[in-house]
Amino acid sequence: MNIHEYQAKELLRRYGVAVLEGGVAWAPEEAAAAAARLPGPVYVVKAQIHAGGRGAGRFKDDPHGKGGVRVVKSPAEVQAAAAAMLGHTLVTKQTGEAGKLVSRVYVEDGCDIRRELYLGLLVDRATSRVTVMASTEGGMEIEEVAEHHPEKILKVAVDPASGISGFHARKLAFGLGLEGKQVASFVKFVLALYGAFQELDCAIVEINPLVVTGAGEIVALDAKVSFDDNALFRHKDLEALRDDSEMDPKELEAVRNDLNYVALDGEIGCMVNGAGLAMATMDIIKLYGSSPANFLDVGGTANAARVTEAFRIITSDANVKAILVNIFGGIAKCDMIAEGIVAAAKTLTLSVPLVVRLEGTNVELGKKILAESGLAIIPADNLADAAEKVVHAVKNGAAAGAAKGA
Ligand code: ADP
Ligand code: MG
Repeated sequence: MNIHEYQAKELLRRYGVAVLEGGVAWAPEEAAAAAARLPGPVYVVKAQIHAGGRGAGRFKDDPHGKGGVRVVKSPAEVQAAAAAMLGHTLVTKQTGEAGKLVSRVYVEDGCDIRRELYLGLLVDRATSRVTVMASTEGGMEIEEVAEHHPEKILKVAVDPASGISGFHARKLAFGLGLEGKQVASFVKFVLALYGAFQELDCAIVEINPLVVTGAGEIVALDAKVSFDDNALFRHKDLEALRDDSEMDPKELEAVRNDLNYVALDGEIGCMVNGAGLAMATMDIIKLYGSSPANFLDVGGTANAARVTEAFRIITSDANVKAILVNIFGGIAKCDMIAEGIVAAAKTLTLSVPLVVRLEGTNVELGKKILAESGLAIIPADNLADAAEKVVHAVKNGAAAGAAKGA
């Protein structure tokens, strides 16, 4: 789960991470009021969307105007900048063409920037450790630095048993060329950030840029925090930070129904139980020459209600030209699943071909229920057969008719 910059900064502040003062606003007057509470005389107005590259981004209705991060000199100018952003769509390198509608802005104290650095924490699968990455190339996209100047990214891996210590942070500080009191400020920053990362079960924390101020302090100017969804049950209070408007409506519906769903841009809707089988299903669809419209794991307790919800989500995607149900009946028996599919297909009146492959407990009974349902379901005997049939259905469009004979 991702959160906004202002939410990330509020959280990080609680863990002792140095951030500037600021306030969130939903309306231009509110932005001016937030500015009036700040020391000034320089203020920064920042569009809050779940995407980076805001500074270099442009508003859709004002493609030659200023971006989503603006430095201004008075609360009145803050109000004007906020008015130019709120209710407008910001397009950045990370949002894609469609852009993102700005519904809140963060008004922050202006910073006297001496240097812009990069600092990131993530769980490195290769070492099974949290890796702290730092670079002198702050403000830039770190992926580009990694590609063209990998030597400019410094890394230290932290052993989870012994945790982080001043040594790790000092190694990075010297690598970044920090000196004097900047080193102590950086060490404090890194230790606090690591503490927040651990406590909050983060997946990624990126501070880009991390700045050295004129006074030699180390401060987070931007903050991207992403939580490990599998640990969210331990942090009920963080749920409130979820911004529904930033999510794909289909994914939001899936979260509400406790379904594991990821929207993709292909044409075959997939309904599968078990993440491994879901991955294999997506692979084999590709192998047969098409592409999946989603990843969807209905889980081990797939029952009629969940199957119906899953169908509702899949069919709300206009790109879906055919659906492939691939279920291995273990705890959930095939006859139960078949009844769920029939009930769902009847309530939702499917308008695209539906291929079903069932295997496992009570498979014969399940197949019988499907065959006798009177619905135009295309049965498949195994994974390859299912993939071939569903891809064929998409390529030939009118496969629904062919299904009747099957
Ligand atoms: P994004 O990464 O989405 O473009 P950032 O928060 O990183 O947004 O801001 C982009 C740039 O704007 C920063 O690299 C920095 O130069 C400037 N900036 C951001 N916040 C402030 C601030 N509070 N004071 C001064 N400059 C800022
Ligand atoms: Mg940034």
